[in-house]
Amino acid sequence: MKIYNTLTRQKEEFTPIEEGKLRMYVCGPTVYNLIHIGNARPMIVFDTFRRYMEYQGYEVNYVSNFTDVDDKIIKKAQEEGVDAGEISARYIKECKKDMEGMNVRPATVHPLATQEIDGMIDMISQLIEKGYAYAAADGTVYYRTGKFADYGKLSHKNLEDLQAGHRDIQVTGELKEDPFDFVLWKPKKEGEPAWESPWGEGRPGWHIECSVMSKKYLGETIDIHAGGEDLIFPHHENEIAQSEAASGKEFARYWMHNGFLNIDNRKMSKSLGNFFTVRDIAQTYDLQVLRFFMLSAHYRSPLNFSEDLMEAAKNGLERIRTAAETLTRLMQAGTDAAMSVQEEALYAKAEEFRKKFEDAMEDDCNTADAVSAVFELVKFINTNSSAQNARAYLQKLYDLLQTLCGILGIRIGQEEEILDAEIEKLIQERQEARKQKDFARADQIRDELAQKGILLKDTREGVTWKRA
Ligand code: AMP
Ligand code: ZN
Repeated sequence: MKIYNTLTRQKEEFTPIEEGKLRMYVCGPTVYNLIHIGNARPMIVFDTFRRYMEYQGYEVNYVSNFTDVDDKIIKKAQEEGVDAGEISARYIKECKKDMEGMNVRPATVHPLATQEIDGMIDMISQLIEKGYAYAAADGTVYYRTGKFADYGKLSHKNLEDLQAGHRDIQVTGELKEDPFDFVLWKPKKEGEPAWESPWGEGRPGWHIECSVMSKKYLGETIDIHAGGEDLIFPHHENEIAQSEAASGKEFARYWMHNGFLNIDNRKMSKSLGNFFTVRDIAQTYDLQVLRFFMLSAHYRSPLNFSEDLMEAAKNGLERIRTAAETLTRLMQAGTDAAMSVQEEALYAKAEEFRKKFEDAMEDDCNTADAVSAVFELVKFINTNSSAQNARAYLQKLYDLLQTLCGILGIRIGQEEEILDAEIEKLIQERQEARKQKDFARADQIRDELAQKGILLKDTREGVTWKRA
């Protein structure tokens, strides 16, 4: 797998720290509003990357935070006259609904900044001890940027050039030693959420969150850190400065950044009013269309959102689904015979599209080319399947199409979203719960399975199940 590493500005062969394992951190949204389709881009592209790595056999530990303490959240809470916690809890819930609609799988862990304050205080204390941070008289703790020799290595900026360009950046009244020093801890303001700390009551700065959560859930050095390209500077640069100064080790080996989503060729922004939430889109389109649209471009390219392109994505997705439906229909009529030599040969041809798909994904997660490979497979299916074929052959074509679409997170047709092994596991858990007389849990599992179309039958021989 080749990955374009922002740190080295080139495509590099990916080698994990530990064989077969991938430790990945993706910066998540600040939860003060419904997420917009720009926020959805990193969610979709890195979820696809994760799915591909799992398909390749990696055990992926995928961590993505919710920033649940921030000026914008506090402002919104004040406007509504409620607690900041109420705002963030509300929008985390809404964000998870959107993620589900876009078929973005939940991360292994979704840490919340407000639950990790102790870790942040520890790291800030460590930075102060090592001389990389200082507390100002008003209780603000700043990072001493000039002390970190590698500052600028990710964004390829030179601190001295930056300083020369911003000689007048120092805001009067700020107690920074240097304009590029950034906040690790801010003192409490009236009416704001605050935590006790050695520097008085206050709350953490944004950058320290990700350094701490990444370390806690993935370790001091991780394989991949990712997010939108707007985060390269200063957010990710500052994360490196904090983490590497604290641990003395490399923070992340590969840095992946998605390009921006524009609307009608203009930068999408709230102030311009050319701004859509994922929820807006869901009124007109199945969110699978939004996902398919996002994957039709390379993740590092800027992507223009327009109705025309969404319509094209919708039609493309329809074409794939029609092929899947056709196969399902043909399978019902297909013969029971084993695959003929001819069918074996044809299927071998179809496998070439898998190879094309994989080659595209191996080349820095080129989903645009991977989608083209899926379209080629669809065309192949349309010309090489009929009711005269063996069911086994049609099934293999269907499975191949489903596998490739599954990596893209695209659902086709009547999918068995729950695997047999998972069903068996839940049934066992239910039996265990009944043994423990935890009938509430047992019923809950039965309902959960029923919702997924799995019907249980208790027999004298044990529990049997079937798909509804
Ligand atoms: P934020 O809530 O602004 O911190 O953003 C959460 C994630 O969405 C970050 O990875 C951002 O880089 C990303 N993001 C925000 N706006 C866009 C956009 N218009 N296009 C692509 N990614 C974006
Ligand atoms: Zn972050």
